[in-house]
Amino acid sequence: MAYQFSCPRNGCSFELRCDSGQEAARLARAHARVSHRDRIAPADLDRWLERIEAA
Ligand SMILES: [Zn+2]
Repeated sequence: MAYQFSCPRNGCSFELRCDSGQEAARLARAHARVSHRDRIAPADLDRWLERIEAA
């Protein structure tokens, strides 16, 4: 199982893919903090993290 995160903010094309949901969440939060000086609410993170079947 892999996880994918696409930053939904306007004008931001940040994407990441990770094997671990925890790691993906950590990196997504780090991105929001560094790039947007903002936090992601847990509910939003749940919605923005997509689970993708491993090929
Ligand atoms: Zn972003």
